Amino acid sequence: MAKTSGNDDTGEMLAERIAALIVDTAHNAPRSLQKRLGPSEVGDPCERRLSYKELDWPQARDDQDPAASIIGTGFHTWMEEAFTRRQTAMPDGRPRYKVEERVTVYDHPVEATAVVGSSDLYDRATGTVWDWKLVGVSSLDEYRRKGPGPQYRTQAHLYGLGQENAGETPRRVAICFVGRYHELRVHVWTEPYNRQVAEEGLARLARIRARLVAPDAAAANYDHAWWSQIPTSELAKCRFCPWFKPGSEDLTVGCPGHPQSAAPRHGFESLIA
Ligand code: SF4
Repeated sequence: MAKTSGNDDTGEMLAERIAALIVDTAHNAPRSLQKRLGPSEVGDPCERRLSYKELDWPQARDDQDPAASIIGTGFHTWMEEAFTRRQTAMPDGRPRYKVEERVTVYDHPVEATAVVGSSDLYDRATGTVWDWKLVGVSSLDEYRRKGPGPQYRTQAHLYGLGQENAGETPRRVAICFVGRYHELRVHVWTEPYNRQVAEEGLARLARIRARLVAPDAAAANYDHAWWSQIPTSELAKCRFCPWFKPGSEDLTVGCPGHPQSAAPRHGFESLIA
C-alpha cells in the first residue's frame, strides 16, 4: 500500500508506519465500530449481509482499504463547516440549517431496537433533507443515468422520517452526488418526501430481524444450512461486504457472494453515508 521514491529504506519504513496508522485509525473509527444498523444500511439489497450485521457475526475479512472512506469523511466535515458558516435564521428565529444532527428514525424500547443516524443537512426553509455522497466518477455517471438505487433512496426517506420524528415537516429528499475527481462534478437526485418508503424499509428490516430470533434459527444453531436459506441479491455489493469470502462453502465462516453481483459501484461510500 505504501509507496516512496527515496533512495534509502527510511522513506519506505516511514510510509509503512503512516499507512499502518491510517488503516488502524480508520478501522477503529466510530463508524467502523458501529454495531447497530444505521439508516444507510437498512435498504441494503442483501438480506444475508443485513443478517450478519444484526447478529454481529464475526467478519470474514478486515483488509478493506479505507482510503475512499477517509476522503468521504473529510468531505462531510467540509460540507458541515460550509453550511455552519452560512447559517441564517428562520422568521421564527430558529436556525435555517440543521447540520449533522442525530435523528431517531425508529425506536422500540421493548425490543430494544432502534435506527438512529446523523442527518447530513436539513434545510428548514425548503423542507429538504439532504444527503452527501462522494463517489467515483464512473459511479456518478451511473447514478445520473439510473438514479440512486433502492438502498440510497430508502436511506433518504428514512432520514426524512427521522426529521419528521424530530418535529420537522420535510417536503423533499435530495441526494447530492459529488465526484471524487480533480474537477468538480455534481449530480442531485431528488423527489418529494414519502413516509411510506421509509416505513416499507423498516417493515422489511423487522421481517429480517424476526427471522433471526425465530425458534428454528436457534435450533439450527445458525449453521450453514440455516444461513443458506437467507436470500442475497444481484444488487449486493459483495466486494465491499465484510463477510465476503470468495469460494467459501461454509456460510458460518463467510459468504461466497451472489453469483450475479454487479461490479462494485458504491465502494466505500456505503461506509461514509
Ligand atoms: S458477500 Fe454479497 S451475497 Fe454474501 S452477504 Fe455479503 S453482500 Fe450478501
